[in-house]
Amino acid sequence: MEKAINIDLTEIEKFNKLAKTWWDLKGPMAMLHLLNPLRINFVVSHVEVFGKKILDVGCGGGILTESLCKAGAFVTGIDMTSRSLDVAKERANREQLNINYFLEDVELFAKKYKAAFDIVTCLEVLEHVPDSQRVIMACAELLKPGGHLFLSTINRNIKSYIFAIVGAEYVLNLLPRGTHNYKKFIGPSELEKKAQLCGLNLESISRFIYNPFKRTFKLKKGAGVNYITCFKSGGEEK
Ligand code: SAH
Repeated sequence: MEKAINIDLTEIEKFNKLAKTWWDLKGPMAMLHLLNPLRINFVVSHVEVFGKKILDVGCGGGILTESLCKAGAFVTGIDMTSRSLDVAKERANREQLNINYFLEDVELFAKKYKAAFDIVTCLEVLEHVPDSQRVIMACAELLKPGGHLFLSTINRNIKSYIFAIVGAEYVLNLLPRGTHNYKKFIGPSELEKKAQLCGLNLESISRFIYNPFKRTFKLKKGAGVNYITCFKSGGEEK
């Protein structure tokens, strides 16, 4: 029997409406722009990206995807929001960045491109899908043996509720209201368990710490509210 599609259409609609704002540094995606230099540093501090085949799952307007391309990787970005991909493609053309963007569901993509990528990134996506376990499984299938998967999401605890929803959406107005649903947040040990079920081992975890006065983030070891992880796929490296 075919599995039900693992896409929340209200999420897709939400991102389609926001699509024009992907590259507005002061708009609703400002947080992602502030986080991005730290995210790319986290990735390159764990793996060599130059010359590697990387898939960016849920790439949106291409914030991380472009940085990976500029770091010398062969990058593909997939997302289910067509307007976001239009923005990403248009920018890549204009800036002559050699990135392949596709409107694809990660699970269907994984059926076509098993073990095709050295690195898969899936940042700030798991909290927007109905079943994060299935997305992690598809990411794992896309990885070559010994490949690396980078996941970032939001921890599920009272601090996350206060900071990521009340603080970010209602007090500081860093994010549009309704961006996040507390029930979709994932604790680090839960994420690790989900990844282990897919043959992935946790290598490292760091948290982003926001300074509301300076409007900057810094990265520290361990999981806080927003965190990023590096997993390595088991199996023989070729
Ligand atoms: N990864 C990007 C964008 C994060 S925003 C970054 O960190 O810069 C979340 C993204 O997930 C949006 O682009 C949204 O369209 C995408 N998304 C949500 N549900 C999805 C699904 N089921 N499949 C693919 N992408 C999805």
